[in-house]
Amino acid sequence: MLALLRAAEVFTPENIGKSELLIGGGEIIALERQIDLVGEKLVDEIDLSGKWLVPGFVDSLVHITGGGGEGGFGSRTPELQLSDAVRAGVTTLVGALGTDSLTRNLSNLIAKVRELNAAGLHCLCYTGSYHFPVKTLCGSVERDIVFIPEMIGVGEVAISDHRSSQPIASELAKLAAEARVAGMIAGKAGIVSVHVGDGDGCLDPLLEVGMSSDIPLGQFYPTHINRNPRLFDAGMHFARQGGAIDLTTSTTPDILASGEIKCSRALKLLIDRRVPLERVSFSSDGQASLPLFDAKGELSGLKVGNLASLWQEVRDAILDEQIEPSLALSVVTRNPARILKLQGRGQLQAGGPADLLVIDPDSMQIESVMAGGKWLMREGEVLVKGQFE
Ligand code: ZN
Repeated sequence: MLALLRAAEVFTPENIGKSELLIGGGEIIALERQIDLVGEKLVDEIDLSGKWLVPGFVDSLVHITGGGGEGGFGSRTPELQLSDAVRAGVTTLVGALGTDSLTRNLSNLIAKVRELNAAGLHCLCYTGSYHFPVKTLCGSVERDIVFIPEMIGVGEVAISDHRSSQPIASELAKLAAEARVAGMIAGKAGIVSVHVGDGDGCLDPLLEVGMSSDIPLGQFYPTHINRNPRLFDAGMHFARQGGAIDLTTSTTPDILASGEIKCSRALKLLIDRRVPLERVSFSSDGQASLPLFDAKGELSGLKVGNLASLWQEVRDAILDEQIEPSLALSVVTRNPARILKLQGRGQLQAGGPADLLVIDPDSMQIESVMAGGKWLMREGEVLVKGQFE
């Protein structure tokens, strides 16, 4: 059956005003000011007057199989539940391993990716982990990216962090070259997702690759750029030099008190300082442990990252920082989709996948979620849950 979504204020993420969408076969068949149909009996007509229609969110970093474990086995975080992604409005996500590539592995990661895809989401992943040399599934980064459909790059490789394998610039350049060429062959981004810790080096290892090789900075996608003011400054420089930067929305009051810049605030600063916004994205770092270390580098606390933080920060950017909704939405929709070369994702357009959210602008709550033309949540009720939730 076709669905006709009428009279919503549509953000593609550009605000195009009141428009109507015809959905069928998992795609947006038409996006027009007004759609008139004959044979309406075949159409499920839904009046969305007073609501916003926005693209489904693209979350470029989620530890879908769980993460953490940095405080002993008792500190391992759990797997992502399907309904957590649905409630958060995330319809496209990229799974990754983190610090632990010993008790967690890529076989398990691929299985989880396929579980989420079977439920209707668009889930992809990175080969590798924090660890260098990279541990892979098919024997090399190139083979993983070329032969495994869901693998679009490598990461999150850790730099400037005491948990990193401390790769040097020439090693990072070789890794980026492998990912780049494999991505070209497979028609994927071949991106290198980079976990940046709070070490003094900040983004220097990546800038060194940029200066000493032919690898463009855009091949790297460093995350956690809002971790502290120093890294944030380095991130602004990196984006101005042509790189893409990602900010982490999951946080805690403790972490903010220790110097992290809240994402909504960071976005305002990036706009004020005229950093090219199309190279900026937010990701949730969902299911990651959020460790706190004391002055001696000892673990002093642990929380779990949450996909819902994506919308919380976009909402705060709109309400508290007075940022245009279309700009605030772009960092969780079109921008990450472009950086990751995910064609058609993160935007609403005729011929594109029908991944969309209905938002009530009065309550600023996500009310309904459609992925691939299928409603996963309607008016606050989650319709599709994981098999064992
Ligand atoms: Zn990380």
